[in-house]
Amino acid sequence: HTVEAPRFSNREDVAAIMKPRTSFAHKGTYGHAMLVAGNKGKMGAAILCAKAALKTGAGLVTLCTHEDYFSAVHSALPEAMCLSQHEVVDTATYKTIGIGPGIGTGAESGSLVSKTLEQFTAPMVIDADALNIVSANKTWLEKMPAQTIVTPHPKEFERLFGKSDNDFDRLQKTITLSKQYPLIIVLKGHYTLVAANGNAWFNTTGNAGMAKGGSGDVLTGMLTALLAQGYEPLQAAIAGVYLHGLAADIAAQTMAQESMLASDIIDHISDALLSLH
Ligand code: AMP
Ligand code: MG
Repeated sequence: HTVEAPRFSNREDVAAIMKPRTSFAHKGTYGHAMLVAGNKGKMGAAILCAKAALKTGAGLVTLCTHEDYFSAVHSALPEAMCLSQHEVVDTATYKTIGIGPGIGTGAESGSLVSKTLEQFTAPMVIDADALNIVSANKTWLEKMPAQTIVTPHPKEFERLFGKSDNDFDRLQKTITLSKQYPLIIVLKGHYTLVAANGNAWFNTTGNAGMAKGGSGDVLTGMLTALLAQGYEPLQAAIAGVYLHGLAADIAAQTMAQESMLASDIIDHISDALLSLH
């Protein structure tokens, strides 16, 4: 098949996407995001994800996780609310969902992913172990709401869609798949590719300081926050990926890439947003 050559997304594209907050806004204006994240030994992923969502502008963030870990969340991030995995969810409350960081691939997490895909019909963000769970139940790919953003790194991509001979093949395959599925596929790496409906954009921000655990969890929180605020999913994906890399690039101006933590990306989201004005 022939596919369109990817374009590069740049500052002007993202500045045109981002809308200023309105003076008369209240927290309801910017959406309630639910994040399904974290599990034993992996609560850091959940906290990074929730904090990134709040820093990217979501009105409210609720973290759905195991009750045993609520206090860890509340002490690290008092702005986030927690919901137990066993509570009945009023789907109308939430504008969107981000699911996957640190949930593990056990049976409980499997049913959480299946329940989420059954209950929610709005575009969501699916990452990390949620993608690995879907890889083991490929028919669930069809259950993802249209315009859902999936954010695999190359290994997760391979589990989900099979092996590619080389990086170029993987890029082409991503674009082709984005025509077959009504999804926005974010293939992460250096020059992350965002593909939808056969069109694709290479991201131009980011650096090797991001090659450390937690970076992807930050991206999931940022993308979920943009969906919560009502950005169109494709625009949310292009802008979110760009801002995530830009925050890391700004962090790298004052710290060694070796020393950069995922939380340093979060700490520079505000600078990334400000630099678009
Ligand atoms: P994950 O593997 O899920 O933690 O995601 C890693 C995140 O960091 C993705 O958004 C990648 O695009 C980004 N990242 C990792 N390494 C690099 C790199 N060398 N250059 C640019 N971005 C990177
Ligand atoms: Mg990840």
